[in-house]
Amino acid sequence: MRVSRLMLVTLRDVPADAEIASHQLLLRGGYIRRVGSGIYAYLPLMWRVLRKISAIVQQEMDATGALETLLPQLQPAELWERSGRWQGYTAGEGIMFHLEDRQGRQVGLGPTHEEVVTSLAGELLRSYRQLPVTVYQIQNKFRDEIRPRFGLMRGREFIMKDAYSFHADEQDLGRCYGEMDLAYRRIFERCGLQAVAVEADSGAIGGAASQEFMVTAEAGEDLILTSEDGSYAANLEKAVSIPTPATPLPAGDERVIDTPNQASIDELCSGQDLDASQVVKVLALLARMESGSQQPVLISLRGDQELNEVKLANAVCATLDGGVLDITPISAEQVSKQGLEPWPFGALGPDLPDSVLEGAKSWTTQFLRLADPTAAELDRFVCGANTPDQHRWGSNWSRLDGSPKAIDLRNAQAGDRCLQSPDQTLVARRGIEVGHIFQLGRKYSQAMDATFTTAEGGQDAFWMGCYGIGVSRLAQAAVEQHHDKAGICWPLAIAPFQVVIVVANMQDDTQLQLGEQLYSTLQASGIDVLLDDRSERAGVKFKDADLIGIPWRLVVGRDAANGQVELVERATRDTQVLPHAEAITALRQVMNTITSPTVD
Ligand code: ATP
Ligand code: MG
Repeated sequence: MRVSRLMLVTLRDVPADAEIASHQLLLRGGYIRRVGSGIYAYLPLMWRVLRKISAIVQQEMDATGALETLLPQLQPAELWERSGRWQGYTAGEGIMFHLEDRQGRQVGLGPTHEEVVTSLAGELLRSYRQLPVTVYQIQNKFRDEIRPRFGLMRGREFIMKDAYSFHADEQDLGRCYGEMDLAYRRIFERCGLQAVAVEADSGAIGGAASQEFMVTAEAGEDLILTSEDGSYAANLEKAVSIPTPATPLPAGDERVIDTPNQASIDELCSGQDLDASQVVKVLALLARMESGSQQPVLISLRGDQELNEVKLANAVCATLDGGVLDITPISAEQVSKQGLEPWPFGALGPDLPDSVLEGAKSWTTQFLRLADPTAAELDRFVCGANTPDQHRWGSNWSRLDGSPKAIDLRNAQAGDRCLQSPDQTLVARRGIEVGHIFQLGRKYSQAMDATFTTAEGGQDAFWMGCYGIGVSRLAQAAVEQHHDKAGICWPLAIAPFQVVIVVANMQDDTQLQLGEQLYSTLQASGIDVLLDDRSERAGVKFKDADLIGIPWRLVVGRDAANGQVELVERATRDTQVLPHAEAITALRQVMNTITSPTVD
């Protein structure tokens, strides 16, 4: 390809709305253009990158025996009603774009494809003899993200590879999940990415495994915790740890203390000279359940710990045996709207009586009470007295009618000891989630009644797995991991072109001819080569070549007269001046080191 024909528009200035390096560089390098919020055009250079990544993904998926398909993006509401997800995905903060067709039927644009694929499997896979089956596709997904940002990192239309597997039993699902894990590791490695596999939350589906693949980068939106040697890694939602020990409360009898203007843990601790680990903090929240009920929840946490909302949602689901739509803090205003007397916010105790809920308009009138073990294990502590501006000092659980059900509800923190190897402490890192593998179990197949005939002649719901890779996010994550001040340094396997030939002076016939000759030779060798044939100053072309980040640069300049060229490796800037035939040989050798397909 010739740069003069490439529609290449590079930008010198950093675009105002791009906060992170990879987003800035993709915009500046003429890879992407913003069309709307979270909506991007992939320009020709970008499309080549995406096709190269897709080709690697396809090869590795095909190698597992998965079958490539293409499922519809326009999905009838009825399918999502069968799985019970229509409401959650379209109402409130739901992320599904949805619309009404001319017949007045509801349809949604696919944010994911479990519903479509499960219903197909139910129709096509009738017998255990047809199992296992894995299908995959690479195509656009639509999600009306609340905060689309960072370019391709969180788009509202983006490219995903998603795969779904169907099995006769849990064991076979586990086998497939293990194969996908390995395939994912190969994919990221071949793309030149350093990705860490971390344990992830698998929702309230009992026992199911889930793992995310994170590209570690400062700009990542996810927080991950790892042991120092990396043998344990989990995202914040899932991570567990040994908490730091609490500071014991000095000896003394239980007493009520006045705590005016000490409604927060910080205020209470500085006002009363306490350590936060000596306090039990109580949070009142409202869980909206899929069943329609609205359940008030009272959480006790040690004062120095933070509530983990995902663990809480799972605990509420498991305890009440039902799906949770959302859990939000209860405000004084909500309490009054329910027709209830004001609650002593800022001084709530774990024993806040259920009577405060009596007569509520739409809430259940009994608290679900849960405590994190850090709180449940405290012998003596300070907690709210359920009277405004008063706390109890030196209280204990037996004084409060016993501790509520203890269940892990807190965030593990950097500096905590690692549960799996207690001599190590946890370190926090930021990550970009580029892939996710998940044992779904029978959640969808049971809900959608997708069954097959077993060897014994009975009907059983499929065991399912799903496996996603954010193809467009991965492309940008690669830039986040591989760039310098001057621009992108693409890993060779996913670079839009492998080599760029820069003819320094287009007016010089010798240079031009040698440039053209090398261009044809490299093309004939099956190398993806770009020829910068623009009549720009050499300096401009070098700057652009640095910016767009082609891994190898062949400069045809003054030395062309004696058959010499300059070969530069973009990432290291290693430069050699050598006869042009040798440069070609060197490039051929480098290209042989990668197994990725070229794109034409
Ligand atoms: P996130 O937590 O980042 O919102 P997710 O867990 O909802 O992502 P999945 O449903 O697991 O995403 O989708 C599979 C993969 O698709 C993710 O691992 C991620 O790489 C990618 N992905 C998800 N949402 C987006 C998005 N809005 N833009 C680009 N890629 C995305
Ligand atoms: Mg995910």
